[in-house]
Amino acid sequence: CFYTKVDKSLCIACGSCGALAPDIYDYDEEGLAYNVLDDNTGVAQIPALFEDDLIDAKEACPTEAITVQKTPH
Ligand code: SF4
Repeated sequence: CFYTKVDKSLCIACGSCGALAPDIYDYDEEGLAYNVLDDNTGVAQIPALFEDDLIDAKEACPTEAITVQKTPH
């Protein structure tokens, strides 16, 4: 299983992750991405159904702002 969060200090609000993984990432009022499943704390297991989207979004992030790891953050 996987856990994810966004480092907002690296996010440039490009809009890619929410397009690729709309069940995981959304944007705050500044357009910066966050994990909607756990309010970007990185402690919620990503449902298996969303894992392909998760990997796609992480790999597409231009600034490597998305962290994915196998244990809670
Ligand atoms: Fe931010 Fe990366 Fe998502 Fe683009 S793909 S909105 S830079 S976290």
